[in-house]
Amino acid sequence: MNPLSQLPSVDRLLSAAAISSLIELHGRAIVTGVAREVLAATREAFRQGATLPAEDALISRVGAGVTAKMAPRLRPVFNLTGTVLHTNLGRAPLPEAAVQALLTAARSPCALEYDIDSGGRGDRDDIVNELLCELTGAEAATVVNNNAAAVFLLLNTLAQKKQVVVSRGELIEIGGAFRVPDIMQRAGAKLVEVGTTNRTHLRDFAESVTPRTAMLMKVHASNYAIQGFTHAVPEAELAELAHGKGLPFVIDLGSGTLIDLSAYGLPHEPTPREAIAAGADLVTFSGDKLLGGPQAGLLVGRKDLIAKIKKNPLKRALRVGKLTLAALEAVLALYRDPDRLHQRVTAVRQLTRPDAEMRAAAERLLPALQKALAALPVTVEIVALKSQIGSGSLPVDRLPSAGFAIRPQGRKGGVLNRIEAALRGVAHPLRPVIGRIEDGALLLDLRCLDSSDEEEFRNTLGALRAG
Ligand SMILES: *Cc1c(COP(=O)(O)O)cnc(C)c1O
Repeated sequence: MNPLSQLPSVDRLLSAAAISSLIELHGRAIVTGVAREVLAATREAFRQGATLPAEDALISRVGAGVTAKMAPRLRPVFNLTGTVLHTNLGRAPLPEAAVQALLTAARSPCALEYDIDSGGRGDRDDIVNELLCELTGAEAATVVNNNAAAVFLLLNTLAQKKQVVVSRGELIEIGGAFRVPDIMQRAGAKLVEVGTTNRTHLRDFAESVTPRTAMLMKVHASNYAIQGFTHAVPEAELAELAHGKGLPFVIDLGSGTLIDLSAYGLPHEPTPREAIAAGADLVTFSGDKLLGGPQAGLLVGRKDLIAKIKKNPLKRALRVGKLTLAALEAVLALYRDPDRLHQRVTAVRQLTRPDAEMRAAAERLLPALQKALAALPVTVEIVALKSQIGSGSLPVDRLPSAGFAIRPQGRKGGVLNRIEAALRGVAHPLRPVIGRIEDGALLLDLRCLDSSDEEEFRNTLGALRAG
């Protein structure tokens, strides 16, 4: 008799109690599909020489298969990398007010492009136009999918088939393939590089203006710093030069925090308000970097130029949806109360968190981590760390923080990679922990672990111990 005929049928597996509850949860189709896959894989393994598993084992394989298949791919994680605005981990976490606004907009029809007062058609940019003007001192504003889109749309609208003058020191690449020369080319603009990598002067700009020049542009060198023998032309001088020649002066700020970060002991980062005050005609910046909002690209500046940009058919292709606008409006509204900003805007709160808080969290969590790693040849200690802002903001400055350093006992580093993978690899619905390996230690920076998340963090550690 063929031993394979001993295998239970799909129907039999589906009628097991544990499987019925999965069907209740996820539906018959997906569970049936996984049961077929499990049986097929079992037959194949048998042909390769494996013994046939018992029915219970098959049932738990189906259960694990369904759970794995139905787990969301966009899983929440603990960002203990020490990089606060981590692009690969979704940058700024939204403040609660923005989460609520987003849920409300998601659930119900809303006045996205509808003027409730007149009953006529509205403009989706009007949802945040007033707030953005108030917070930046600009005359008008518009919103697109991200800052890369904002820069692209600006160039395509105002500089197609014309020249854009930029300093050689600002021809930057931002992670994830945003490169100023490439964006320029795709937007149909001709890049005119002036000056040198480290020094660019006003005369370099003045000499390069021709009848085909569309604008002078400044790009904030977000993610790198040039130090030593350097010179960049101040914004106000570039604005004056541009205006003297009848040209607009535009600035891609990148991060574009709306507040003076030095008030919180952080290094100063240029703000859109300063850029507008210095004479910039248009400024672009991200919604999900230092601003702490959803992914978006914000364009603020002169009313006539914003109007032109909004008429570009590409604006329709790059526009944002109601969820983004709902979250953005809620975050911008928080900026009307600067006194409580550092408590309410999550990204700002995390960036300004005193290291004593991270140290206290480390003291609370140390026993759980030690317990989780007790069987392994490693040491765990609380250490001072330096966090980074991330997303190309303030590349040089680092924020004093605290967390854990896990080091191998003896010379073998392989154990660190195993722990790092295990912390990442916990099964849904546990939340994976993302740390970083540096100088022979696995570092867990606690800056971005909210105290309300500590319980869930302990759960992940508990699973690690069990595994
Ligand atoms: C981050 C950044 C961009 C890209 O912004 P996204 O919102 O990621 O599209 C463009 N320019 C500068 C200077 C930046 O720092």
